[in-house]
Formats: sequence, C-alpha cells, structure tokens
Amino acid sequence: MRIDILTALPRLLDSYFNESILLRARQKGLAEVVVHDLRDFSEDKHRRVDDYPFGGGAGMVMAVAPIHKAIVHLKGQREYDEVIYMSPDGEPLSQPLANRMSSLRNLIILCGHYKGVDERVREHLITREISIGDYVLSGGELPAAVLSDALIRLIPGVLGDETSALSDSFQDGLVAPPVYTRPEEYNGWKVPQVLLSGHEARIQEWRHQQSMERTRDRRPGLLDEVS
Ligand code: SAH
Repeated sequence: MRIDILTALPRLLDSYFNESILLRARQKGLAEVVVHDLRDFSEDKHRRVDDYPFGGGAGMVMAVAPIHKAIVHLKGQREYDEVIYMSPDGEPLSQPLANRMSSLRNLIILCGHYKGVDERVREHLITREISIGDYVLSGGELPAAVLSDALIRLIPGVLGDETSALSDSFQDGLVAPPVYTRPEEYNGWKVPQVLLSGHEARIQEWRHQQSMERTRDRRPGLLDEVS
C-alpha cells in the first residue's frame, strides 16, 4: 500500500511514520507513506495555501489551486484508488471500514486546516471523506495518521504475529479481553489462574467470556449491531 499525505504542516507527521510498527512496515516494503508539503504547490510568493473566506467570517480557508496541483501531480505518476479528505462530517472511521480499505493499493489523504478546504475541492477532487470522531481537531494530520495506522497494521506481514490484528477489539463485534504478562503476582495482584493453566480450550473460552462481559458492560451498542 502506498499512502500520499497532502498537508500544509508536513513536520507534524515526520516522527509518527518513522517509529515502531509503521517503520517496520516501510522497511519490509509492505507500506510506503509519503508526506507532501502543499506549500510546494503554491504559486504565491509567500507559499501561502490559505485565503480569506468569501462572504466574510472568522477563519481562513485552504485554497483550491495548490491542492488541485498536488493531486494532478500525483495522479500523473500512478493511479489512485481513493482521494480521501479527513473531515469531521465524513463517514465515521470504524474497524469494518478499515478492514475494507486495507486491501487498497494507492491512496491520497488530504489534511485540512483552519476552517477547512474550499468546497470545490470536495466536489471535484475528493472521492471519499472520513471522520475519526465527533469532535473537531485543529488539523487533519492526526486524523490522517490515525487512518494510515488503522490500515497499515492490517496488511498481512506488518504485525509480527499474523493473527494478532484479528484478536483486537471490534474485529468480531466485541471488545478485546484483558491481557497480562509476567510476573504472575505483583504487589499481591494476581493473574487469573486459567491463563496459567496451559489449557488452550479453557483459555479461549475464558477470553471469549471476558470479551462478551466487557462488551455488555462497556459497549452494549456493539451487541445490538451484530444481532
Ligand atoms: N470548520 C470545520 C472544521 C475544520 S477543522 C467543521 O466545522 O467541520 C480543520 C481540519 O481538521 C479539517 O479540515 C479536517 O481535515 C481536520 N479534522 C478536524 N477534526 C476532524 C475529525 N474529527 N475527523 C477528521 N478530520 C478532522
């Protein structure tokens, strides 16, 4: 998978993609994330990418021209499955959506800033709009990183243990069971005995039960969705 991220603040994304799982995915050639500075596509002598809103009001708007130029430039190099705009009013990001999108090959993700992007960008250049939740952040960089992470960790071979993404919360409509590691007892706090039993079937059954109970307690809405 290749993800091209368009942003006015590229440095915000540097560290995230250069650490841990995402770095390994890049090193293994399973995923590539390329961050582009929209200012490189500005024709303004101060490299501006925003302007005052028509009709007045507070806040700046990201102009159509640099975004259009950046997208045309990228599309000249390869075909893209989707051109995504991160936006609070987009389709809510969920595990099923991430699962569906994780097999795509080439994506462009546009990060907004200020009041957002000129509506003509959304009408003519964007193929999909995704929100990471019902709250507003100051820019699309964190949302773009969230989406990229959610997709890249699903690519086969990215996580060390191939099955580990499948046992995460939401994959089966349930939240994940609790996990423990050494020591067996710390400060008088004990690990559930069943996990030390070595009895695979009983462990699986316990984990499933815990998932069910936790889902009922914490996220009962998930159970309605599957039934
Ligand atoms: N005026 C807009 C918010 C702009 S916030 C509105 O009320 O809808 C600036 C940018 O941050 C947006 O263009 C978007 O790219 C990003 N952003 C903020 N919150 C987001 C969210 N919940 N999901 C995805 N992107 C978000």
